[in-house]
Amino acid sequence: MTVLAIDIGGTKFAAAMVEPTGLITARLELPVGQDATATLAELVARIAVPGLTGESGLTGVGIGSAGPLNVLAGTVSPVNIPSWREFPLAKAVSELLPELPVRLAGDAQCMALGEWWQGSYGKRAADAGPYKTLLGIVVSTGIGGGVVVDGAPYLGPTGNAGHIGHISVDRDGDTCPCGATGCVETIASGPSMVRWALANGWRRAVEPSFWAGRAVDARALAADAKRGIPVARLAFQRASDALGTAILTAAALFDVDNVVIGGGVAASGPTLMVPLRQAIARQAGMDFLHRLRVDATSLGRDAGLFGAAALVLGDQPS
Ligand SMILES: [Zn+2]
Repeated sequence: MTVLAIDIGGTKFAAAMVEPTGLITARLELPVGQDATATLAELVARIAVPGLTGESGLTGVGIGSAGPLNVLAGTVSPVNIPSWREFPLAKAVSELLPELPVRLAGDAQCMALGEWWQGSYGKRAADAGPYKTLLGIVVSTGIGGGVVVDGAPYLGPTGNAGHIGHISVDRDGDTCPCGATGCVETIASGPSMVRWALANGWRRAVEPSFWAGRAVDARALAADAKRGIPVARLAFQRASDALGTAILTAAALFDVDNVVIGGGVAASGPTLMVPLRQAIARQAGMDFLHRLRVDATSLGRDAGLFGAAALVLGDQPS
């Protein structure tokens, strides 16, 4: 029994053949070409070949996709793939691999489920300790999330549960592209942090020669925060405060005891994790919120693939 896990990102498609034990027997990653549908077909054709699909063959396909997506309709409209608007992804994969069950969820939901199943702080920790409910958050160009309750992904009736990036934390804040005001994403996503830092003198704070050939992005901002440039540190502080508020909101609703953070901004490590943990400790009220544990991803990009596989494996993963 082997399942095919597919991760649909804005610039790359990844796939892996995953055994119920969590063993990955094959993997492939392709940059998204001009024709995303052709890239998908190539990905499936190259990985799901006889001989690589295990003794008893392929038993299902799990897909995690960048959003927005409509899980009920099986369609996706990834922001970075303009040619895919309400693209029938589940149906397209079904046509490439007929007669196999296909499950679809958001990329951040898959990240959360993958961390639960194979990460250092999910199921394995739960077997030995107190962790039951895991919130996974992807902090990148946007902010996504997913919730795993008692080992099962909670996707919600429309499949949209976990949209933590669009919890409003500032009623007087900026308008978010989603239409609401003061969403976490308008403060703590990579581009939002960079925008705020630039508006508050980030460029002026660093000697001009420093900018030669250097990208003005969240990675550069993280590097400057690490160097102790005050405005860069403040940008991370501000993002941490907003993220902390949203995390505590979710934790209060679901009695979340474990949060795992992934995504490009989280790759800055302690630059984000230290002020984030401090923000949560400072803002937490009720006793049960003080046991909240927040860690950086232990699986990196593989979390999404493991989660996509777990969608199909259901409660069979061992
Ligand atoms: Zn929003």
